[in-house]
Amino acid sequence: MLKNEKAVVVFSGGQDSTTCLFWAKERFAEVETVTFDYGQRHKLEIECAAQIAKEQGVKQTVLDMSLLNQLAPNALTRSDIEIAEGDGLPTTFVEGRNLLFLSFAAVLAKGIGAKHLITGVCETDFSGYPDCRDSFIKSLNVTLNLAMDYPFVIHTPLMWLDKSETWELADQMNALEYVRDHTLTCYNGIKGDGCGECPACKLRKAGLDNYMQRRNRVSEGGRMI
Ligand code: ZN
Repeated sequence: MLKNEKAVVVFSGGQDSTTCLFWAKERFAEVETVTFDYGQRHKLEIECAAQIAKEQGVKQTVLDMSLLNQLAPNALTRSDIEIAEGDGLPTTFVEGRNLLFLSFAAVLAKGIGAKHLITGVCETDFSGYPDCRDSFIKSLNVTLNLAMDYPFVIHTPLMWLDKSETWELADQMNALEYVRDHTLTCYNGIKGDGCGECPACKLRKAGLDNYMQRRNRVSEGGRMI
């Protein structure tokens, strides 16, 4: 349907944005990625994203966003801040991150003649990040169009999916194994299934277990017929 159009995926090399990359590749003639370097604890995250972009044959632009750390010290970038999720916003929260990332991605996209922006934000595993909400994305879409007088379309294929459904989407695109083995979600910087202990690993594993159980039930049901 959109085979003659160009898209830019906001790409971190994690499960969600890699699933979005596969989603975009199925829909658009040309896909590029943009990765933000904001002093993540693990340089491996940037390397991992670069490796996936290379393997999938898409161009990657890495933009320096180290100013984010200067403005908003947080547990993703500072090893002296513990990753904690309790009441209120988790310490991994970076104020305004998606607002900034999508705005920079839009400038880059317009520059290369792409009107489609794809981001892996979702409301379902909502940890209280206001700039992951659907209403924010819709509002930003209008703002970007007005700011640059350009018909951007922000796509959020994961907005209403929970983690198990995100695995399901990857599986539908025959990308489950790839996403499982090549992406980095773990806060401790371990690729694939990760450390198994941090909040990101627990969420990822719970989603995968849930989806695999569902898939097995379906295939067992299928054999019975
Ligand atoms: Zn982990």
